[in-house]
Amino acid sequence: MDHLLKQTVLVTGGAGFLGSHLCERLLELDYEVMCVDNFFTGNKQNIVHLLDHPFFEVVRHDITFPLYAEVDQIYNLACPASPVHYRRDPVQTTKTTVHGAINMLGLAKRLKARILQASTSEVYGDPEVHPQTEDYWGNVNPIGERSCYDEGKRCAETLFFDYYRQHALQIKVIRIFNTYGPRMHPYDGRVVSNFILQALQNRPITLYGDGSQTRSFCYVSDLIEGMIRMMESPDEITGPVNLGNPGEFTVRELAEMILDITASRSELVHEPLPSDDPVRRKPDITRAKDQLDWQPTVPLRQGLIKTIDYFEGLLSQGSLNGARNGMRILDA
Ligand code: NAD
Ligand code: UDP
Ligand code: UDP
Repeated sequence: MDHLLKQTVLVTGGAGFLGSHLCERLLELDYEVMCVDNFFTGNKQNIVHLLDHPFFEVVRHDITFPLYAEVDQIYNLACPASPVHYRRDPVQTTKTTVHGAINMLGLAKRLKARILQASTSEVYGDPEVHPQTEDYWGNVNPIGERSCYDEGKRCAETLFFDYYRQHALQIKVIRIFNTYGPRMHPYDGRVVSNFILQALQNRPITLYGDGSQTRSFCYVSDLIEGMIRMMESPDEITGPVNLGNPGEFTVRELAEMILDITASRSELVHEPLPSDDPVRRKPDITRAKDQLDWQPTVPLRQGLIKTIDYFEGLLSQGSLNGARNGMRILDA
């Protein structure tokens, strides 16, 4: 494409797990990409392979501060996404979700640019409705340890819809359910990364509680496809739209599948359930199917095999991504 005709896309949190896959895919689709990240949980290693691309640019910037740039679309992904990370600095997490959203919405307003918000299934809290549909308002503790994230993301959605009503912004809100794949942070304490590393190292697999709580796991390539389809959808589609894999597995089933693929000698051990840990979570993706003609295609086992390959690579290199920032303590 003639570079003068290329659309420029801003990806906040572009050096993170999802952001790096999004930047990669957008470059493949012939967009010019500006990746903005403060490297709080992201890592240069995630985007190092893109640095030589002529239409890829990285800006070290914290979105809690204003940003002036000229772009056509904004994907707002910046935010620590795992409890271990956001609890390290809960106030900064709320600032990122709320001040960050205001700044990115202000930027979109000035530019008349389309803006997509990476919201989360956490807006449903510990849900009383199962599976979760977008019209369910959620069951969220406003003062707990997860609240900085859950309430911050809820407030960001409020801001998106107020900018839509008040300033006629073109908004797109997706609610992402648990997503996994290569470039997940190895020490983010998430169930997929914990279990894979434990299995590969023949260490005990830590089941929190009795392991009967359920989650749905979406492979990263499926999620990115849904995200881009949402951004490209007609103006009237604002969301919120759930994006996730409706296949529901207990945490114990996940552990057993990982043990099987890795042929690990690890044993299962039980540890206390963290506070506010949702008992069941599964997306209803009817809206995504109807409005975006999207549904996940990668089965859990196949996605796990690719993710395990990635973690094996990290282990064989002898150094794990992002082990800096003191996150190694999580897995000591
Ligand atoms: P991640 O931690 O790998 O990526 C987040 C990125 O944002 C990191 O690169 C981090 O350095 C950057 N960042 C954080 N605060 C920032 C700030 N103030 N300014 C600029 N950059 C900042 O997490 P991820 O899993 O890639 O998640 C990306 C987005 O998707 C997040 O908004 C998260 O809430 C959302 N999400 C992810 C999942 C999932 O399963 N991965 C589920 C639901 C929602
Ligand atoms: N903003 C920004 N880049 C821009 C325009 C605005 O970062 O190109 C920020 C700025 O900090 C502002 C916020 O977005 O405070 C919200 O902008 P808006 O225009 O909605 O409100 P106001 O400028 O009146 O505060
Ligand atoms: N979990 C677990 N062992 C671990 C890490 C997590 O049993 O080593 C459980 C956790 O209690 C939760 C589920 O796995 O019920 C998913 O946890 P994760 O932090 O990955 O995601 P979230 O709770 O945000 O859905």
